[in-house]
Amino acid sequence: MNTAIREPARSTPVVGEYDVIVVGGGPAGLMAATTASRTGRSTLMVERYGFLGGAGTMGGLSTFCGLHARVHGEHKRVVRGYCDELIERLEHMNAISKPHFSVQNRIQAQAYDISAYKVALDELLLKGGTEILFHASVVGLTTNNEQQIDTVIVESKSGREAIRGRVFIDGSGDADLAHLAGAPIEKSPDLLYPSLMFRINGVDYNEAGEAWRTVARLMEEAEARGEQKFPRKKPIVRPQRNPLEWRSNLTQLSNDDGSAIDGTDVRQLTKGELQGRQQVWEVFDFVKRRTPGFENSYIVDIAPQVGIRETRRTVGVYQLSEDDILSCVNFDDAIGVQGWPVEAHVKGTVEFRFPHADEQSRGFNQLPYRMLVPQQVENLLTVGRSASMTQGGQSSARVTGPCFVMGQAAGIAADIALSEAAGVADVEIPVLQRRLQETGAYLGADLAPDTFKESPPTVPAV
Ligand SMILES: Cc1cc2nc3c(=O)[nH]c(=O)nc-3n(C[C@H](O)[C@H](O)[C@H](O)COP(=O)(O)OP(=O)(O)OC[C@H]3O[C@@H](n4cnc5c(N)ncnc54)[C@H](O)[C@@H]3O)c2cc1C
Repeated sequence: MNTAIREPARSTPVVGEYDVIVVGGGPAGLMAATTASRTGRSTLMVERYGFLGGAGTMGGLSTFCGLHARVHGEHKRVVRGYCDELIERLEHMNAISKPHFSVQNRIQAQAYDISAYKVALDELLLKGGTEILFHASVVGLTTNNEQQIDTVIVESKSGREAIRGRVFIDGSGDADLAHLAGAPIEKSPDLLYPSLMFRINGVDYNEAGEAWRTVARLMEEAEARGEQKFPRKKPIVRPQRNPLEWRSNLTQLSNDDGSAIDGTDVRQLTKGELQGRQQVWEVFDFVKRRTPGFENSYIVDIAPQVGIRETRRTVGVYQLSEDDILSCVNFDDAIGVQGWPVEAHVKGTVEFRFPHADEQSRGFNQLPYRMLVPQQVENLLTVGRSASMTQGGQSSARVTGPCFVMGQAAGIAADIALSEAAGVADVEIPVLQRRLQETGAYLGADLAPDTFKESPPTVPAV
């Protein structure tokens, strides 16, 4: 049997031309598109689903992490910019809770309603003038020369089409574009484990009380008695704005050999979906039977797809590291800040690590522009969970807050690169920082850093 076939060559129509093309409508990509279009650049968002939000909607997260930090012991929102507008809109829609204490009560997070979030995101992008192409996947690209992307190839129900751009922003989460362009990337042999999220409705919240503690305790006791084994420890079961509804994050998806499901392998993804729904059903059955207040509850939604935490990461001109997070570092080329702890989803559990100085620490690190700049491709920026970070750095800075920061910086950087007719690596940092502050971003420079790192690249050119 032949193990490969040769497809006939074909001519692909070029159906559009834009200053900036963003691939992927997760928090990083959507903020990049919002920002690029507000600079006046013609901007296209290409998203494979029919809605924006990325893991926040398709993965059923329903919580913003990383918008807040514990600054010298005081909890504050430290991620600012166009996300302020989004949060105000959600408040106006009655669709976002007040910040709650998460992760051992040491950091704040904020829950939102997924359907309202989808609507608010449509509005945010359209208001700025972004053109949206839903139900289209980027599957290829062409280059001008070795160092510049010319077009992305998308596939959809309309067929296969090429779209020409000048600057490209990869918000696919899997570094799809960086990978297709041949930029250096890496993938850990021990990926962080994915989870399938679900939401429970019909909870008697007076009876349930602080059931997020009760559920964790009941699961631990049942395991200790040998009654039931759960896929992972540290379950999250928390109320939404309307406490009839609770979000649930207590699954962990693995292959037969125990390794994490790889979100860039379609067969493993298929296994993850099947396994995830089984786990959801089994663990929900336990919660419903054992937890006061959950007796009449039911599953109102299983997320449209498994939530993928980590796949390919770009190896750019700087890789944000776990030590940068834990030592609350400052950078010369800061584009914003984030204060989420390291959250490593390892086999069977979740490990959290907070800044070294903890209570006394500034509580956030800056994010450097260089983490958005891949090597070898002049007109590509990578944002979000596949930006240039080590696994430890990504275990913190992949959450929504830092994704918003990266997106806003990439949108402005794209505009500057186009104005200066420069590669994205040559963007003038003081100009970028001034423009970020003019658009409401907080760069954290007013508070003394715990440590400092200078600009020269620390990753040798590949
Ligand atoms: C189970 C789970 C729970 C989590 N819980 C939280 C939480 O409570 N709070 C929090 O803040 N963060 C949480 N996170 C982290 C979350 O992954 C990040 O916050 C964030 O969603 C990453 O954003 P992103 O924009 O980089 O990528 P993603 O959110 O992964 O979005 C990528 C987008 O690109 C699209 N796309 C991908 N490839 C293509 C292509 N080739 N063509 C076109 N479109 C494409 C996808 O459809 C998607 O919309 C959780 C993650 C997981 C997996």
